Amino acid sequence: MTNLVLFGPPGAGKGTQADILKDKYDLVHISTGDVFRYNIKNKTELGLSAKSYIDKGQLVPDEVTINMLKAEVEKNESAKGFIFDGFPRTEAQAEALSTYLESRETEVHAMIALEVEDEILVERLLERGKTSGRPDDADESVIRNRIKVYYDETAILKKFYQKQDKYYGVDGVGGIKEITERLSQVIDELMK
Ligand code: AMP
Repeated sequence: MTNLVLFGPPGAGKGTQADILKDKYDLVHISTGDVFRYNIKNKTELGLSAKSYIDKGQLVPDEVTINMLKAEVEKNESAKGFIFDGFPRTEAQAEALSTYLESRETEVHAMIALEVEDEILVERLLERGKTSGRPDDADESVIRNRIKVYYDETAILKKFYQKQDKYYGVDGVGGIKEITERLSQVIDELMK
């Protein structure tokens, strides 16, 4: 198995790249944000409990998110590996993911981070908000709060994976193809 965490702040391009890479490497893409939005759209209990956090740009509580992630992994028993996009976002989630994958006799093989500076993120998200229909892309203060939450709670995970020698940073500014190439260089090396 090859399990990758695609990492980076909101608007870094994780979803776009994961969508391409999942086909290129035959991996299952799990975006916790997408799973939450699907549940909100379908008015499930999970969706209803997550919506108030998401609309404010806050994180959904760890327990809810971790259980949801495990359920998504278990829907894909024959997967050759996963691209986790938007998960883990806290140290508790990273610990839970390690323990969980260990129980399945596998692990996170790498965290690959898309590095993009803040003002470009805000610009990209406001642009995306014109067509994404996402309430959390529509309001600049919510966008800025999401970036703040990233620095306060999520950025620390760089150290978590660096300590395990699993962190790879990639320049996330440029054309989509160009960035796919940069990510592929890292993944090809890992899969050798
Ligand atoms: P994303 O699509 O990754 O930008 O996520 C959209 C929103 O979903 C985030 O701002 C959070 O409110 C929520 N969310 C997604 N993934 C997580 C996670 N791993 N932990 C907590 N909240 C999450």
